[in-house]
Amino acid sequence: KDFKSDQEVRWCPGCGDYAILAAFQSFLPQLGVPRENIVMVSGIGCSSRFPYYLSTYGVHSIHGRAPAIATGLATSRPDLSVWVITGDGDGLSIGGNHLIHALRRNVNINVLLFNNRIYGLTKGQYSPTSEAGKITKSSPVGSLDHPFNPVSLALGAEAGFVARTVDSDRKHLTSVLRAAADHPGASFVEIYQNCPIFNDDAFEPLKDPAARDLRLLRMEQGEPLRLGPDRGVVSGEFGGLEVVDVDSVGEDRLIRHDAHRRDPGYAFALSRLDQPAFEHVPIGVFRNVRRPTYDDLLNEQVEDARAERGDGELAALLASGDTWTVD
Ligand code: SF4
Repeated sequence: KDFKSDQEVRWCPGCGDYAILAAFQSFLPQLGVPRENIVMVSGIGCSSRFPYYLSTYGVHSIHGRAPAIATGLATSRPDLSVWVITGDGDGLSIGGNHLIHALRRNVNINVLLFNNRIYGLTKGQYSPTSEAGKITKSSPVGSLDHPFNPVSLALGAEAGFVARTVDSDRKHLTSVLRAAADHPGASFVEIYQNCPIFNDDAFEPLKDPAARDLRLLRMEQGEPLRLGPDRGVVSGEFGGLEVVDVDSVGEDRLIRHDAHRRDPGYAFALSRLDQPAFEHVPIGVFRNVRRPTYDDLLNEQVEDARAERGDGELAALLASGDTWTVD
């Protein structure tokens, strides 16, 4: 099955969005869901053109509000596979509120946040993930804002599934998409996405292939992660990290990655390793923990209320604004 649409793709030459789109188009047949049961919901921004380029259902919606629209879809149509496509501006500035509440509620949606650390569509203003001191058209003497780390934010909202990947590694990107789709409930994936027009140096330390391989820490469930001696502080500052085999690799330290830990503190510590200059960048699944989805809880509640009172009384109650509890 081919999931490409007949729309002309309109991103700048060299944009990282092309690589993400190509990976996603190849991944969709593996999802095993008919195209009419897949919905892509986006907000506003370069990445939000994504739904046009797939032959699924799609909504190019309201700035920052894609998680709210996706919540309505997912809760009323549990048979759908619902994906939110957003960027660092759309999802973390005007839409930050909607994003964190969809994650904490554990709505059954998959959120892909393309992080290029800039507003691209409006031609290069600093975004909520731009580094402090960023010089742009809207911050000519440097931004004073401290940036969000999207993975840390999602973990703080206790999202059940949180991952990071990069636009230039198709194999890794595809594996993360698959894991996100397999997770029941809210999944959040940050994708480092290069914007060569307005922020080409955003991921400079990761551009050189040799340097990138050294800096990227590929997390595998149950496998040890090697941290250089200068990163040993991580084990001391965050009590949840298990340090193992310290002697077996000289000065390096190994920590065993466990995305299934319920306490998000361990994953949060790992999410901070990309600061301040991408010296070590963990990629892969930080957290993969199951809990009841908002969709299931809501539908169960409605069914219980219907069974106890009947549709007529339920409708009257909702119209009255009064409350009652189901026994
Ligand atoms: Fe891509 Fe940047 Fe162009 Fe937007 S402005 S399409 S993010 S290269």
